[in-house]
Amino acid sequence: MTNDALTAKMTSPWDAPLEPAQIPSPLHPVHHPLLDAHGVRLWCKRDDLIHPTLSGNKWRKLKYHLQQARAQGKTHLLSFGGAYSNHIHALAAAGLRSGLRTTGIIRGEADSVSNATLSAAKGWGMDLVFVDRQSYRRRQDPDWLAQFAAPDTLIVPEGGSSPLAIPGVAELVAEVPFSPDLWVLPCASGGTLAGLIAGKRAREQILAIAVLKGGGFIANEVCRLYPAAAITDGWRIALDHHDGGYARFSPALWQWVQAFSAHTGLPLEPIYSGKAMWGLFRELAAGRIPRGSEVVFIHTGGLQGLAGLKEQGRL
Ligand SMILES: *Cc1c(COP(=O)(O)O)cnc(C)c1O
Repeated sequence: MTNDALTAKMTSPWDAPLEPAQIPSPLHPVHHPLLDAHGVRLWCKRDDLIHPTLSGNKWRKLKYHLQQARAQGKTHLLSFGGAYSNHIHALAAAGLRSGLRTTGIIRGEADSVSNATLSAAKGWGMDLVFVDRQSYRRRQDPDWLAQFAAPDTLIVPEGGSSPLAIPGVAELVAEVPFSPDLWVLPCASGGTLAGLIAGKRAREQILAIAVLKGGGFIANEVCRLYPAAAITDGWRIALDHHDGGYARFSPALWQWVQAFSAHTGLPLEPIYSGKAMWGLFRELAAGRIPRGSEVVFIHTGGLQGLAGLKEQGRL
């Protein structure tokens, strides 16, 4: 299906499985002395507040997957994730709300990965299937995926990042009642970034903060999900704020995030939203955000992950 066809479908009243949702999500001003010092104004697009169990970019990326499942008469959603995956958590919640069966293919051994995220998913009726790392690596390989294919099943890629994610994310742009100079967001697979590129106005810039090490592949992935990104100006991925790699963070980063949250009242976690905010402020301190900029930071959710980090004694 083309993006145009999907855009045309946006008007159909098919959101029900994802209700009740707070759409548009709130936009909150953020105040901080470093912003004043650099003459930059910042707002936070609170996608973390969209839904209590199905938050952030995962709500937006799943929206049209669920529509597709319904339209094609599918009764089962199957997807992939790590043991603390926000996407698995969101997919299980979506399945419960929509009456679709869900299966999560989880990287790791069952006994080594029981935690708050997976307990919630299981409690919402998701079937969990554990696979070793070697197998998990084949999650985009059609030969390996064939074992999960069934007429009743919609296979959703890891993180919900497929071309179907694009229109759901693009919709957030029109929810902001002005045209910011710069959008800032965390990125991992690049699906959310691809959707934002699709939705942004021509003059608007995007700074995506890669939360993982070796993010050189992300730009290609963005262009695979949304080919017009290759001919769209104004977006870049900052690769040097990963702070050690995916799901890693230094004590300094977590301390900064806690101080920032205490000062601004904005809840953040250190894997995505906190790391991206930290990255934005490093860019700001380095003088890479032009004076006078109006910046909208997208809070992509993920606060459910704090429980798992606490369980592991990492916070
Ligand atoms: C999954 C996730 C991301 C990464 O989004 P991509 O589309 O994979 O780049 C960012 N923030 C949060 C909170 C997430 O759960």
